[in-house]
Amino acid sequence: MTATGSPKSPSARIKLEVSAEPALRQIPAEELAALQPTIEAINALKIERNAIVLAHNYMTPDIYHTVADITGDSLALAQEAARTDADVIVLAGVHFMAETAKITCPDKTVLIPDPEAGCSLAESITAADIRLLRQRYPGVPVVCYVNTTAEVKAEVDICCTSSNALQVVESLPGDRVIFLPDQYLGAWVATQTTKQVIRWQGACEVHERFTGAELRDYRAQFEGISIIAHPECPPDVLAEADYVGSTSGMINWVKGNRPNRVVMVTECSMSDNVAVEVPDVEFIRPCNLCPHMKRITLDKIRRSLETMTTEVLVPADVAARARRSVDRMLEISAAPSVTAVGAPVAR
Ligand code: SF4
Repeated sequence: MTATGSPKSPSARIKLEVSAEPALRQIPAEELAALQPTIEAINALKIERNAIVLAHNYMTPDIYHTVADITGDSLALAQEAARTDADVIVLAGVHFMAETAKITCPDKTVLIPDPEAGCSLAESITAADIRLLRQRYPGVPVVCYVNTTAEVKAEVDICCTSSNALQVVESLPGDRVIFLPDQYLGAWVATQTTKQVIRWQGACEVHERFTGAELRDYRAQFEGISIIAHPECPPDVLAEADYVGSTSGMINWVKGNRPNRVVMVTECSMSDNVAVEVPDVEFIRPCNLCPHMKRITLDKIRRSLETMTTEVLVPADVAARARRSVDRMLEISAAPSVTAVGAPVAR
C-alpha cells in the first residue's frame, strides 16, 4: 500500500464557490459566510507568494476543504513536499511534519501557522536517548516513526510512517530492530514480522485513550458496524478492528468497501473530512481531539502567509543526516509493496 496526497480542486486556490463545492455543505452556511473573507485572502496570498498549503487529514473541515492544496497522512505530505515546485510550503499540521518538509526541501521556505503545535510522540524521545539505545544494542538497526524531531531522525537508520512501518522493518538486515517512539505501532508491527521488535515506550495521547471495551459497545449498539483503527491505538483496540491502517489507508478502505456504518478509531476530524466523500456511509463518530493539531486555524494560516512566519529552520548538518533517514523511507515507499501496515484483520 502506498499513500498518496490528494490534490484539491483548482478552485481551492483561487476563489471559493460555496454552492459548487459539495464538500463545503457540511460547514454551516453562516459559519462559511463568516469564514469566506479569510479563505479568499489565503487563496490570494498563496498565488502572491507561490505557496501551497499541505494539510494533514486531522485538520478541521474548514481548512481541509477550502485552502488545502494537498491533503494526506504524514507520508503523503512528505512525498508532496519533496515534489512541489512552490516556493513556500505552509504545513497545516504539527511541528515535526513541518520539519520533515524542510528536511526534504531545504531550499524552500516552510512555514508553520503555530510553532507550538507539538506531538506527544515527538516529545517522548531525544537524540541522546537514541545514542544510549545504540550503546545498549550495538549493531541493531534503528527505525523511527516520522513523529519525531529532526534531531532524532538524524540519529536513526531510517524513518517510517504508519503506512509503511512493516515494509521498512522488513527491509532491514538482521533479526532484531529497534522501533521508536510509538510502543503501540511497534507492537502492531511485531505481530506481523518474525523480527524481534525492541520498542520505546512513547504513545500518542489521542489514540491511547481508545479502549477495546468502547469498541465492543459500538458493536453491541450499532448493528453491522465496521470498525477501522489506526495502529497508534493500544492492542486491545486493534484486536476489535476489522481493518488497521494509516489515515490514508483508512480513507481508502472506506472508499473501497463502502460499509453501511463505520467507526474510524482515530482523531475525530478524519470522519468529518471523509464523510462528505462517501455520503452513502453512516459514520459513528467518537471524538478524541488532538489538541496540537487543533492549534492550526484558518486565521493562523492567513497570518502565517501575510507575515511569512513562523519559518521552520533545521541546522544544515542535522538536516543532511535526517534527510538520509527520510530518503531511505521514501525510496522504500516508492517500491511496490505487499507487506505495508494496513492489513485487513481476520475476524
Ligand atoms: S494525533 Fe497523536 S501522533 Fe498525531 S500529532 Fe496528535 S499527539 Fe501526535
